[in-house]
This record gives sequence, structure tokens and C-alpha cells, in this order.
Amino acid sequence: MSEHTGLDNDTNRAHATISELYPDVGRITLFVAIEEADAESEPNYQQIIFTAGTEAIFRLDCSRDDCAGGGFDFTPIVDEMVKNGESRVHGKLACEGTLGAVGDRCGLKAEYRIIVD
Ligand SMILES: [Zn+2]
Repeated sequence: MSEHTGLDNDTNRAHATISELYPDVGRITLFVAIEEADAESEPNYQQIIFTAGTEAIFRLDCSRDDCAGGGFDFTPIVDEMVKNGESRVHGKLACEGTLGAVGDRCGLKAEYRIIVD
């Protein structure tokens, strides 16, 4: 009666490409500048381009070596953008990871711009 169909949404999502998930999107460009621990240094934007065949996972690791479980996940932001038909957003995310044995929050900030074409 309660047999599983074998379909698992989470698993499907993990392997979906941009064209499968967002058929109307041709390209997603992510600009990210991760805040340096040294406040003097200029933010250094890296540009990451996702095309139709790219897996639809928009995640960056935290740049701190001693950060555990951290990183920046832009996937929900891209999801919202596509749902709302927005082509440009910018904002900041804070790393949710922890540092060292004491379990301090990392909180490293990343400034981002996302362009959906
Ligand atoms: Zn971190």
C-alpha cells in the first residue's frame, strides 16, 4: 500500500542541470567577493559562469581553512530570482560555519551579484 516509487526529489535536484530546472534561463553569472580577514585588502571579485548544461548548484566553499561546515549557498537566491523573473540582484551572505574547537561562528561575509540571462 505504501510502496515508494523510487523518486526522490532531493536526489533529482542534486543532479539537475540549469536547463532542466530553469528551461528559460540560458546563463547565470555569479560575481562573488569574499571578505578578507585583512580589512585593508580590496574585495576581489571572482566571476563564475553557469550555462544550461551546468549542474544547478550554486555553492562556494568558505575561504578560511579552519572553517568547518561553512560555505556560501546561492541556490535559494537563484531559485527566487528565476521564480520572480528577476535578472539582477546583489547582496551579502554570511558563512554559517564554525571555527576551531570552541565553536565560534565563522560569519565571513561574501558580497555577491547575480545576473540571470
Ligand atoms: Zn566560514
